[in-house]
Amino acid sequence: MAEAETRTITVFDDRSKTGLPPGEYAFCEMFCDEPGCDCRRVFFYVLASFRKGPEAVIAWGWESAEYYANWFPHADPEAIAGLMGPCLNIGSPQSELAGPILGLVRSVLLKDEAYIERIKRHYQLFRAKIDGRPMATSWSRKRIRDKIRKATKRKRRA
Ligand SMILES: [Zn+2]
Repeated sequence: MAEAETRTITVFDDRSKTGLPPGEYAFCEMFCDEPGCDCRRVFFYVLASFRKGPEAVIAWGWESAEYYANWFPHADPEAIAGLMGPCLNIGSPQSELAGPILGLVRSVLLKDEAYIERIKRHYQLFRAKIDGRPMATSWSRKRIRDKIRKATKRKRRA
């Protein structure tokens, strides 16, 4: 996995709201770097300002259940739900604050459309680097193909 961007959330002294002690919580974006894998998930590696070590590792996939079922054909619905998340990543270190941090991801990070779009963009850039194919090329090729298809359809109709 490799890191892309870090976002910080400040929690003020209002534990009743978040269940978290006050402090800065840093969410480092990580992506899977397995060649040829297109899992379309982000891993938030979460650090707190008041102590060392990871507080939580949270996984989130932004595609549909169909996408993950396709990508991982033998997975049962529960495993698919686990791929999509957001959830605490199995096998990663999780502190006693991991649950409330997951709540923060749900209620703050994943409510921010611009941030989500940025994650997807970072993922594309990251995967392009891993798989060695510049995304711009494959995008424009697809765009050209779509244009040709649309143009032929229009012609047929005319
Ligand atoms: Zn992957």
